[in-house]
Amino acid sequence: MSTPSIRKERGTMAPDDGARRKLPQDGTPALRVRDLTVDIRTAAGRRPVLRGVDVDLRTGETLTLLGESGSGKSITASVLLGTLPVPPFRVTGGSVELGGQDVLTMPSKARAALRGERIAMVFQDSMSAMNPSFTVGWQIGEMLRTRRGLNRKAARLRAVELMDQVRIPQAATRVDQYPHEFSGGMRQRAAIAMALALDPDVLVADEPTTALDVTVQAEVLELLRDIQAERTMSLLLITHDMGVAYEMSDRVAVMYAGRIVETAVAAELFDRPAHPYSVSLMASVPRLDSPGELSVISGSPPEIENMPAGCAFHPRCWRAEAICAGQEPAGVAVGAAHLSRCHFAQEVFHD
Ligand code: SF4
Repeated sequence: MSTPSIRKERGTMAPDDGARRKLPQDGTPALRVRDLTVDIRTAAGRRPVLRGVDVDLRTGETLTLLGESGSGKSITASVLLGTLPVPPFRVTGGSVELGGQDVLTMPSKARAALRGERIAMVFQDSMSAMNPSFTVGWQIGEMLRTRRGLNRKAARLRAVELMDQVRIPQAATRVDQYPHEFSGGMRQRAAIAMALALDPDVLVADEPTTALDVTVQAEVLELLRDIQAERTMSLLLITHDMGVAYEMSDRVAVMYAGRIVETAVAAELFDRPAHPYSVSLMASVPRLDSPGELSVISGSPPEIENMPAGCAFHPRCWRAEAICAGQEPAGVAVGAAHLSRCHFAQEVFHD
């Protein structure tokens, strides 16, 4: 099979290194996930949905989990937040540390207490994240009343401040409005304000702009970037959108069929991908300079019940050889902190 067309122009998507933020160098991992495995109960028995996921999120950085839907990104997020529905899912192995503290072994009450304080989440659908019966300000202030003991007046004042910080105009008036009185973009800003109420160390944003139109999407991404820089907060961004990953990431972890198949500093990943799936994802992005060259990844991600043997990507892979269907590839280091799970990682990287 031929190499996707983006390889011919590789390098044109590389972010400007000079424009990248300087991160705190204290070495503290805000989040560390090791060998996380999760399975799900199906009619045919238990099947793996996460297969040894490793994530390192440093203080103040943005790490993007990038992949098609069904790759395991959102399941990873639910494990981190402690909101994985058990059953049908079950964590079968691995560890999750938040600020050095192992959370998977914690009693559920202690785990719940971390939500909002240490780790918080922004969802794609802000409407379902909010209760239509309560004002936006009341909902932003809820955590402050229940967890910080603020009275109604103080929580309302703080809600106005938070709404100001997420750039909701006329916050002092809008604090008393209901979610349906907000546009989609303003509601997503309010959802971000809710997530920030207890000043978490880690913010997980799961497709935070997918439901928004392009202009509003850019504004919300800029807001997330600014807030993160102001608070030195770590951001775990989950997206299927290469443009969003390109704009936002310090590092990228590409997921496929419940595994992280490539991880690298964003500039290097976009410039020199070392996994055929990453190459294919980049080739599927419409390009202004060559609009006719869009290449869609053939086939669909595998179903949980029918996971291919060997490398799970092999039925769709333009680089596959006989070994790929029989042997699962191990991680290969192609550079400093650049790992690819492919039998031909070096060749793809140097191609
Ligand atoms: Fe493609 Fe084989 Fe690499 Fe898998 S191991 S990505 S099938 S070349």
